[in-house]
Amino acid sequence: MKSSVAMEATRRRAQHGANGKSSEEEGQPAQWGRAWEVDWFSLSSVIGLLCFAPFIVFYFVMACDQYQCSVSQPLIELYQGETTLLSIWSRAPSFTWSAAKIYAIWVSFQVFLYMCVPDITHKFIPGYVGGVQDGARTPAGLINKYEVNGLQCWLITHALWYANAQYFHWFSPTIIFDNWIPLMWCANILGYAVSTYAFTKAYLFPTCAEDCKFTGNVFYNYMMGIEFNPRVGKWFDFKLFFNGRPGIVAWTLINLSYMAKQQELYGHVTNSMILVNVLQALYVLDFFWNEAWYLKTIDICHDHFGWYLGWGDCVWLPYLYTLQGLYLVYHPVQLSSVHALAVLSLGLVGYYIFRSTNHQKDLFRRTEGSCSIWGSKPTYIECSYHSGDGGLHHSKLMTSGFWGVARHLNYTGDLMGSLAYCAACGFGHILPYFYIVYMTILLVHRCVRDEHRCSSKYGKDWKRYTDVVPRRLIPGVF
Ligand code: NDP
Repeated sequence: MKSSVAMEATRRRAQHGANGKSSEEEGQPAQWGRAWEVDWFSLSSVIGLLCFAPFIVFYFVMACDQYQCSVSQPLIELYQGETTLLSIWSRAPSFTWSAAKIYAIWVSFQVFLYMCVPDITHKFIPGYVGGVQDGARTPAGLINKYEVNGLQCWLITHALWYANAQYFHWFSPTIIFDNWIPLMWCANILGYAVSTYAFTKAYLFPTCAEDCKFTGNVFYNYMMGIEFNPRVGKWFDFKLFFNGRPGIVAWTLINLSYMAKQQELYGHVTNSMILVNVLQALYVLDFFWNEAWYLKTIDICHDHFGWYLGWGDCVWLPYLYTLQGLYLVYHPVQLSSVHALAVLSLGLVGYYIFRSTNHQKDLFRRTEGSCSIWGSKPTYIECSYHSGDGGLHHSKLMTSGFWGVARHLNYTGDLMGSLAYCAACGFGHILPYFYIVYMTILLVHRCVRDEHRCSSKYGKDWKRYTDVVPRRLIPGVF
């Protein structure tokens, strides 16, 4: 049952489409946020992803478990009739109750930290922004409040992990690796459960009906989400919780578990494993240090909560973002000093570009342009847009600093860092390079998607911006 407010929003869309004029021309709310209409390409991509993404995850994890991380060997054996899909399936470890117990404790602990331990770190860590923070304005014109305590949750979780490994010995630090595939079934159960719950909730009891989007296509609604910011109670925000924890808090623990496994199997830890742990930990810590900033990124500001985020955060992220560490358990690559230094440099330069670009935008937006970027006052384009409630708002698009070099240099830096993780694994197999291929597709698609949204939101002002800054990711090229 669609709420009446959502139907009103849909009706407005129908009127908009009927007369062919842009919302700006009409002085009506602009169409920003995720799509209302589904074209055949989006629909087939959605159905393809719903059907194949779980198998992609299974394939990579199984390739490591059964074929020493060879991606081609299972296909060759299948082609030559030496194995069957059924025998691959029957060799894969199945669901276990002990894994379910571990997973339930893990998720419950993260819910507890998120909900019951208000942030105190912002009170004594200089420069850190935590505690209750405002999100960005939603398409309906609301500004949600969030309890930002991710850094604290990460620190508590990792302090406990360390205390267990050093003193308590309640469980082995290899516990995650040892239960990797049984845990994957549990992660899938949670991923599907939370996506289905969010889907149903959007119809029956949405948190904010004005911010729901119904396309009329059930697959698209399920995958891309209907509700913008589903919540349980006042504070349990699905997007903030599932995006950051348990997936991203787990990321560094998963890597530590892989490192412990390497130590257990070979008696030493390779420099490649240390590089992957350090570079990815830097990325994860950056995420939590800047969690308040993260409230202003596309994930929170523009994406609706569906299977794409729900299942993606529970399964895709922890299983595919950590493939390098998993690979290094099976192939303990020891890099030459030159190779290791090159990887470290690429990772750090990438991180610097990624962080500085994000920081420049954040500083610029927070101070409304009254700041210094690369030693001088930033230049910008004044823009206006309408929210769903018809309100007229103003914004600014910076045209100096990294944002004057290209329109998404933060993605470029992210891609350089991603390539560094992969290159840390040497050149023996393609499996660890899946990550850079995936990130390139994700960020190029995201860039196009974001620019489409910005163009709808800002209209001719966006065109003025792209005239001044013509390239997206690589100056002079793309
Ligand atoms: P951005 O932080 O680049 O945000 C894009 C938004 O910034 C636009 O929608 C627009 O929003 C605003 N904007 C665009 N141009 C300008 C400008 N010139 N001046 C001021 N504001 C501008 O994108 P994301 O949220 O996608 O990414 C944030 C970070 O997260 C990136 O570094 C990305 O690499 C990383 N990321 C990592 C992922 C991973 O899986 N590892 C996945 C996704 C992102 P507005 O409507 O407010 O104007």
